[in-house]
Amino acid sequence: MEPIRNILRHKKRAVRFYEAEATKIDYEKKIVYAKDDSDIKGDTMETEVPFDMLVVGVGAENATFGIPGVREHACFLKEVGDAQRIRKQIMDCVETATFKDQSQDEIKRLLHMVVVGGGPTGVEFAGELQDFFQEDLLKWIPQIKDDFHVTLVEALPNVLPMFSKQLIDYTESSFKEEHIEIRTKTMVKHVTDKYIEAEISKPDGTKAIEKIPYGLLVWATGNALRPVVKDLMSQIPAQKNARRGLEVNEYLVVNGTENVWAVGDCAVANYAPTAQVAAQEGAFLARLFNTMSKTDAIETELRELSAKQGTAKPEDRTVILNEITERQRQLRRVKQIGPFQYSHQGSLAYIGAEKAVADVSWFSGNFASGGTMTYLFWKSAYLSMCFSTRNRVLVCFDWVKAKFFGRDVSRE
Ligand code: NAD
Repeated sequence: MEPIRNILRHKKRAVRFYEAEATKIDYEKKIVYAKDDSDIKGDTMETEVPFDMLVVGVGAENATFGIPGVREHACFLKEVGDAQRIRKQIMDCVETATFKDQSQDEIKRLLHMVVVGGGPTGVEFAGELQDFFQEDLLKWIPQIKDDFHVTLVEALPNVLPMFSKQLIDYTESSFKEEHIEIRTKTMVKHVTDKYIEAEISKPDGTKAIEKIPYGLLVWATGNALRPVVKDLMSQIPAQKNARRGLEVNEYLVVNGTENVWAVGDCAVANYAPTAQVAAQEGAFLARLFNTMSKTDAIETELRELSAKQGTAKPEDRTVILNEITERQRQLRRVKQIGPFQYSHQGSLAYIGAEKAVADVSWFSGNFASGGTMTYLFWKSAYLSMCFSTRNRVLVCFDWVKAKFFGRDVSRE
């Protein structure tokens, strides 16, 4: 993660940043209502931020499809707090499983790590979790060797549907080698504190319900709308039929508005809700706003020059006229910004055991690859996506630290 304040301190213009939750956007009144989420309670915990122009980039929350028990018992994978909760729960499971006189059935349950959702989030997490077990946990607590078990549950017939068949097969066979079980055609219908209930489609076409006990449950079944976005959509008549997020036009303006833009997972622009799309949309909006500010400045200059021309002496008029022509040329150049066009660089996912899969489109050709070289490519791609040199160095140090001294297994 990159602290926003670290980005802002390098900006020349004054920017005000509030780390707070936007609880409601009033489109008519042009006000964002914000709430301070800190644990320390100040005298003012809520405020209003008026706006002329607004960019909504609040992302999405975890989809649970209303499946009972998910919110209460599963861990998610979106915020840093989710990762901390997962780490604590893994260690709780391991310590409780090794507690004196624990029954064998309970040990098996506690050490069963279930990941629901075979998209890139679920696959990458299952791979990383097995790595954590192989590279660290086993060294610390060798007695869990035969009972620690990672299972990936997916409702569809295969995992990673956005990758080519070849890479799906490669992922599935790598998982087999790493002893990660993949259970496809298995749709979770109900979750309790100790087991999940899933509907399994058998090869003969019949269905059965199975109870799968777990110690840790990680839920990664995709994105859902955040309430603040749902509420904003309800205020804009043109968004009446939108289901997946704020529908935007080719300039990322929210349909039915003139002064609201949306980017990333909360916007529907017919692209997948990926970081790659969000990053390109953000860069486009930055260009668009820079253009708008340059346009404003040139238009003001043009107005001033026209006024000056009316009162100028005849000998000065030609100079002013030349300046006007030059500004008009500049204005045309600046205004030439076209609509947003997404350029797909490919899909990339880590699958554990220092292997990754990549479907990359380069030089107008597609190339699919999997293995250790792809893993190094994956690492360098992630490094290049860090915003600052500071972050790149910190991430490199973290990787080196984990390689030599293992991952941190402390519970708090
Ligand atoms: P996803 O929507 O890609 O996958 C969710 C999976 O969960 C689906 O395959 C679905 O069939 C399955 N599922 C849904 N309900 C289920 C149930 N009840 N029981 C069993 N399975 C169920 O979600 P994601 O993996 O969280 O990814 C979200 C977005 O973020 C995607 O667009 C993805 O491409 C992107 N992403 C990309 C990367 C990467 O490029 N490496 C990594 C993480 C996320």
